[in-house]
Amino acid sequence: MGSMGKVLGVGLVVGCAVAMCVVAGTMVGKRVKSRRRWTKVVKVLEEFEEGCATPVEKLRQVVDAMAVEMHAGLASEGGSKLKMLLTFVQNLPNGSEKGVYYGLDLGGTNFRVLRVQLGGQRSAILEPGVERQPIPEHLMTSTSEVAKFELFDFIAASLQKFVEKEGNGSVALEGKLRELGFTFSFPMKQASVSSGILIKWTKGFSIHDTVGKDVSECLNQALERRGLDMRVAVLINDTVGTLALGHYHDEDTVAAVIIGTGTNACYLERSDDIIKCQGLLTTSGAMVVNMEWGNFWSSHLPRTSYDIELDSESPNPNDQGFEKMISGMYLGDIVRRVILKMSQESDVFGLSFSKLLTPFILRSPLIAAMHEDDSPDLREVARILGEILEIGDVPLKVRKLVVKVCDVVTRRAARLAAAGIVGILKKMGRDGSGSTASGKVKGGSHTKMRRTVVAIEGALYTSYTLFREYLNDAIADILGEDISSHVVLKVMEDGSGMGAAVLAAAYSSSGQDTL
Ligand code: ADP
Ligand code: MG
Repeated sequence: MGSMGKVLGVGLVVGCAVAMCVVAGTMVGKRVKSRRRWTKVVKVLEEFEEGCATPVEKLRQVVDAMAVEMHAGLASEGGSKLKMLLTFVQNLPNGSEKGVYYGLDLGGTNFRVLRVQLGGQRSAILEPGVERQPIPEHLMTSTSEVAKFELFDFIAASLQKFVEKEGNGSVALEGKLRELGFTFSFPMKQASVSSGILIKWTKGFSIHDTVGKDVSECLNQALERRGLDMRVAVLINDTVGTLALGHYHDEDTVAAVIIGTGTNACYLERSDDIIKCQGLLTTSGAMVVNMEWGNFWSSHLPRTSYDIELDSESPNPNDQGFEKMISGMYLGDIVRRVILKMSQESDVFGLSFSKLLTPFILRSPLIAAMHEDDSPDLREVARILGEILEIGDVPLKVRKLVVKVCDVVTRRAARLAAAGIVGILKKMGRDGSGSTASGKVKGGSHTKMRRTVVAIEGALYTSYTLFREYLNDAIADILGEDISSHVVLKVMEDGSGMGAAVLAAAYSSSGQDTL
């Protein structure tokens, strides 16, 4: 304004000076406005960040809440949002299994058929074949009368093709019933290890006339219709498969966690603690419990207005609350909602941001790619904003803002998952808090922490490095370095399907010593 005053003071051509003054005034106004808009955007970020905060004291509250809810879910049917489902898996593979077994994995993004060959003595698993394929969309959400036949026929047909492709390796199997482990990752009510009734569909599946039906029976009938000499030996969900494979490799494995499209966990519980099923006779004194932890809820979870909107606009409001803050299906949509809010508060993303209105347009691999963009000018962020959201020419400081949003969402997700894991350890008396003696073994004059292995699977943990680092760090934060050094998270690649096949071996009619 100082120089303008001088110009005015000279007073050469008044009209021109006035015009200039107006132009300059608008420019200054723009700058002030843009600064104000930037302040607004930063405020959106700051409020979001504050709402997502997970200081270690808060995580410990989540740990306690998880352990409390586990108790409640074991005490009575419907006692908690955690279903704590009985799996009737009482024996986990111990490495002595031998033979050729098959696995099917249904319930994620891809459907898998596989075969394993086991040699006993905890041998490496030969995996002569795996086949992955997406489930045809029309089979996932069919409302037709024959829908359930179509889905199970699709599975049986894939299995048949797979078996027919087998080479000479299968000669030894001739005349022998092939035993199958079926991973079916939806909540089931089970009364035996080889059967289960579908409680509800999740993860976008919805098929007419299947809820309440026995899943193994549906598949066995489809196998029979095709003349396949195979039967379902074990029916499990993906976490149980991951636990089984983990235990095959390492007998200290007592729990498993999946963080992929959805999230869930299971662990080995003492039969005596499964109060809702008193008098449960188990040979081993233990049973794997499928927590269905995606549905966990606690007032201690750091929830924001974006989470509330995501939930209320979802097909399953008030359901799967933990999953909606953690798993791959949802992370990108939380990020989208925050960026959308920013774009509505200001024009930092330009004026055309209609793509931001499309639900689920940002998938979690894109979030990972932006978050992990280490180019100095955040080229990958610019590319994704341009190509996916059709937002061009985003200045560097705005790209940085987007990265920060990804960071806040992912960090919260990873730290909450870590708190969930420690909650399981606490329930098992393996968190070092000493409330239960079972977690410690006498070691001379002092008690030592027992080694605890948690098998883990899912692309969020295996493929998203920053997510994995945040999760690992949070476990150390909560437990302290000393205790967390006894806790090992072991990745089980393809654990859900492989584990089903290995568990089928453990339960096969040929009989093995287990656990
Ligand atoms: P599923 O859970 O479907 O059985 P995965 O464990 O492979 O299978 O998980 C797939 C989920 O993980 C998808 O939701 C996908 O968006 C997410 N995902 C896959 N790759 C990555 C990645 N590199 N970074 C972040 N998320 C990923
Ligand atoms: Mg999976």
